[in-house]
Amino acid sequence: MKAMVLRGPAPVESQPLSLEDVPEPVPGPREVRIKVRFCGVCRTDLHIVEGELPPVRLPLVPGHQVVGVVDAVGDAGGDAGTKAPGEAASDRTPGTAGNTAGNTGRRAGDGAYYFAEDAGGDAESDVASNAAEDANCRVRVGDRVGLPWLYSACGRCSFCLKGQENLCERIRFTGYSYDGGYAEYVIARKDFVVQLPPAFPDLDAAPLLCAGIIGYRSLKVAGVKPGDTVGLFGFGASAHLAIQVARHWGCDVLVFTRSEAHQNLARALGASWAGKAEDGPAGSCDAAVSFAPAGSVIPPALRALKKGGTLAVNAVHLDGVPAFDYSLLYWEKSVKSVANATREDAREFIRLAAEIPVKVSTEVFPLEEANEALLRLKRGQIQGEAVLDVAQVL
Ligand SMILES: [Zn+2]
Ligand SMILES: [Zn+2]
Repeated sequence: MKAMVLRGPAPVESQPLSLEDVPEPVPGPREVRIKVRFCGVCRTDLHIVEGELPPVRLPLVPGHQVVGVVDAVGDAGGDAGTKAPGEAASDRTPGTAGNTAGNTGRRAGDGAYYFAEDAGGDAESDVASNAAEDANCRVRVGDRVGLPWLYSACGRCSFCLKGQENLCERIRFTGYSYDGGYAEYVIARKDFVVQLPPAFPDLDAAPLLCAGIIGYRSLKVAGVKPGDTVGLFGFGASAHLAIQVARHWGCDVLVFTRSEAHQNLARALGASWAGKAEDGPAGSCDAAVSFAPAGSVIPPALRALKKGGTLAVNAVHLDGVPAFDYSLLYWEKSVKSVANATREDAREFIRLAAEIPVKVSTEVFPLEEANEALLRLKRGQIQGEAVLDVAQVL
């Protein structure tokens, strides 16, 4: 199969992803194989490709907003499609495997805080977990599904048991811990794929799977309530979906972004005000979300908050936070990061997105132009979300 493969992180200007022919992956127990139609391009992919998120597996196929059709089910004893019996989960990607980092999602050093105390992370015991949940899972060959950032969680740690699988001690990520959707086929855990409602065509469904789900979780983390005044800082793929949820809840939305094109899109999607962060009204927002990868947004976002308000920071990587005066945080304001999302978040958001229904803005690139899509994303030149058209690969 064709895949865009990362062999070593590098600035995206140097085209670190290369189009390669690699063997088709084979699903192991409780896994499915998805024939990919579209894969969204997320800022997290950019952080992975450029190495701000340290590699846990190389070579790697990135991509975690996958829309496709299940074409093989590797469940032992189940209605297996084209599975190869006895195929071990950890051997499933012979093309891009052979890596020394392994599939454990674990590394020492500067990236350790993403995977703290990740003891005994072998793929076999990962698969053995969540068996009860898996029994209720009815994914079949031919189902149209989505594969998000959350590849799997252990189901047994204290966080999983409290419904916080996004904080799981043994969490695994699509297109980071395992190969993702910048390829014709991808392997997924049967119990972690998302069923997609017919309301969304394949292309429109792709941005929902990370940008949409994480944007929705950000609104929850910020404590947004119906009728609130909500500030959104940065207006990329995630914010252009989150604003539609906030408007659906009857919120007044202010959008803070430097880009005039993004300001115009924000107004078109119902923002009552759009402009630069420094021009925004102080003390105006009950809640705020920062979607920017820049820590410099945090002080102006705190300034925009009312007393008692929460700023949710939707970023997997932030380029440092500047020192700021305590008065910006006083009056019981809080700052919280948003880390990953749960399957419940995914289900809630997809249901809501179909009900609204959210309008999705996309720019389509062929699979082999993934470097170009990431470069345009880095330069802030994408309106809505960049999506790779994988189905057209011949
Ligand atoms: Zn993402
Ligand atoms: Zn867990």
